Amino acid sequence: MKNTVVSIIKAESYDLKKIEQAIEKIFLNLDFDPGSFRGRKIAIKPNLLTSALPESGIITHPAIIQAVISIIKKNNGIPVLVESPAFHPLERVLKKTGIDVIIEREGVRVADTKRTMLIHNESGLKFKSFHVAEELGSCDMIINLPKLKTHGLTYYTGAVKNLFGTISGLEKSKWHFRANTKEEFVSFLLDLYGAFTAKPDNRIIHIIDGILGLEGEGPGAGGTPVKGNVLIGGTDAIAVDSVAVAVAGLNPARVLTCIEGDKRNYGVSGLERIIIKGESLQSFNNKFREPEPKSKMTGWPMNSPFMKNLIVEKPFPQKDKCTLCYQCKTICPAGAISKSLNNLTPSFNYSRCIRCYCCMEICPENAIMLKKSLIGRFIS
Ligand code: SF4
Ligand code: SF4
Repeated sequence: MKNTVVSIIKAESYDLKKIEQAIEKIFLNLDFDPGSFRGRKIAIKPNLLTSALPESGIITHPAIIQAVISIIKKNNGIPVLVESPAFHPLERVLKKTGIDVIIEREGVRVADTKRTMLIHNESGLKFKSFHVAEELGSCDMIINLPKLKTHGLTYYTGAVKNLFGTISGLEKSKWHFRANTKEEFVSFLLDLYGAFTAKPDNRIIHIIDGILGLEGEGPGAGGTPVKGNVLIGGTDAIAVDSVAVAVAGLNPARVLTCIEGDKRNYGVSGLERIIIKGESLQSFNNKFREPEPKSKMTGWPMNSPFMKNLIVEKPFPQKDKCTLCYQCKTICPAGAISKSLNNLTPSFNYSRCIRCYCCMEICPENAIMLKKSLIGRFIS
């Protein structure tokens, strides 16, 4: 992978005019002409993880979103907001953060992320297809606006991880079960990132909001807001994240998305191969507090059998079709299927089941159906 450019701009407040100038400077440093927004639909992908106040350091600050909207509109582009929070409805998050006022005033369309399309990454290590917001299919470009934060599970979260928010809320939870260790989750994030960058004309610019970041037990309310005084931009998410980690004074050896992403040739993680434009790395002396090595999140609460059964559909064998061939039992990677207790269908242990749905794929009788989760039944 050849050298890549990352732009660093010092920014100490969310003064709108200054933010706008800083983002225009980033575009200039990246040799990107915002005039190319003209007549094009541009997806804005902030980090609106939850309904938190801007001063919490959890979400992309509304001023950043406003500045990007203004630049796109000034250049006759059409901004569209694309985001799916983890649990709370987007409307609630927009209201709490004050972003609802901005998008109403600016007439910005908000994508319905429940409408999805499939994107593919043939080089994905484990996962090759992903349902993401359908709206992205008609957008010419994505402006990805992550927040600079520590993360209890992945240690750091930034540009690569923020694209996870293009997957609809409840679907996101399912991915946590399919990729339910730190290493598997990182590998999944890279498979997904590879799907976004698979086509050469898929244009994404990442701009990390590190003016106010989050340290300690991020990425949510367990973390502590901390000033980073920086905006970091680039087209290579691995490089942008590597620079953000350096600016925050975090440990690059713990950022698996960058290390593994570089190994896969998805981007550049070594600072010596990154061309910095703007402020130098040396002009920052941040030291974000790391998450605990034994963070509570490594025991991801979503992985508990209770949460799993609450959220994710179960594979459920149908007695009128099953022939007790046990091909499902043979393929099940979790050892969740055992001999029949009723002589009609195999027995499924849903606490062990990781919801990979291999059993459904292999069943020659098409005898395994999806049974809705408790929440699924409630919201459908
Ligand atoms: S979905 Fe089927 S194959 Fe996968 S873990 Fe569950 S029972 Fe086993
Ligand atoms: S693979 Fe299908 S038919 Fe065979 S035991 Fe499993 S559910 Fe029954």
